[in-house]
Amino acid sequence: MRGAVLHAPGDIRVEHRPDPTIVEPTDAIIRLSATCVCGSDLWPYRGIETVDGPAPMGHEYVGIVEAVGRAVTTIKPGQFVIGSFFASDNTCEICRAGYQSSCLHRELIGAIGTQAELARIPLADGTLVATPDVPPDDLIPSFLAASDVLGTGWFGAVAAEVGPGKTVAVVGDGAVGLLGVLAAQCLGAERIIVMSRHAPRQKLALEFGATDIIEERGDEGAARIKDLTNGLGAHSVIEAVGTRESMMQAVHATRPGGHVGYVGVTHGELPGDQLFFSHTHLHGGPAPVRRFLPELIDLIWNREIDPGKVFDLTLPLDQAAEGYRAMDERRAIKTLLRP
Ligand SMILES: [Zn+2]
Repeated sequence: MRGAVLHAPGDIRVEHRPDPTIVEPTDAIIRLSATCVCGSDLWPYRGIETVDGPAPMGHEYVGIVEAVGRAVTTIKPGQFVIGSFFASDNTCEICRAGYQSSCLHRELIGAIGTQAELARIPLADGTLVATPDVPPDDLIPSFLAASDVLGTGWFGAVAAEVGPGKTVAVVGDGAVGLLGVLAAQCLGAERIIVMSRHAPRQKLALEFGATDIIEERGDEGAARIKDLTNGLGAHSVIEAVGTRESMMQAVHATRPGGHVGYVGVTHGELPGDQLFFSHTHLHGGPAPVRRFLPELIDLIWNREIDPGKVFDLTLPLDQAAEGYRAMDERRAIKTLLRP
């Protein structure tokens, strides 16, 4: 099969990789209908995270089940399925509490690399969720978004305790931040303030339900949110970038007693004294997307939400390198790849 491999920072190649096979009896093999490039793929691509030899890339996936191991009972060949970036059994105590991305038996899909024609998905019964039927082509981008960015934005909103009557601020205008806006709107937020300087992203944020856009960043951005909330700060802030600056911007934009949901992988140390005196609740981490998949699949299947709008560039898998470049240079919000 063909698959994208990162050889060194900035060096993505689509090359022949061995076809995956069933290794464990709980595995499934899927043929990808679509895959995509994640903002987090840009960390190794930019050399901010080290690349240890050629690494298969990709952890977002939707596709048709081709084969299942003998212990797989609920997932069947021919089904259209969606899974998240951690395989999980969905039965251990941590999974049952809704934290499947910390499953006691979790496996990282990024190590398998789904920017490819085929992928082996471990713990298929726990990891994969099938749609009611094979979906029409126009719904595929939205289901693909549910695999990571929608589920992650949704967790950011839930972790930030978004709800009716609340003012929400979103730090980050990448796909996760924009879908955090969509989640906040679905969860009943009264006001949704987005921090963005990019016109196409501002427009999409407004389509997803944002009520206010502010262009200031850092301390100025946090001050602007206080201005808009009677000097108090937002009730709920979704942090979807993962730098020290963005995290502290989120904390400083939150009112005492408020909640920060952080879903950008934090890079850099945070000042403990500022966290202490902020009097905010911090909750985040790798999103347990699997918790939300059944609900998100329903919303997409019934065409109540259209998260696939975050894909503003679609390329054949063979042009993955251009897909990475476009996101790195912020020419594209998110690149969908067709195997
Ligand atoms: Zn588990």
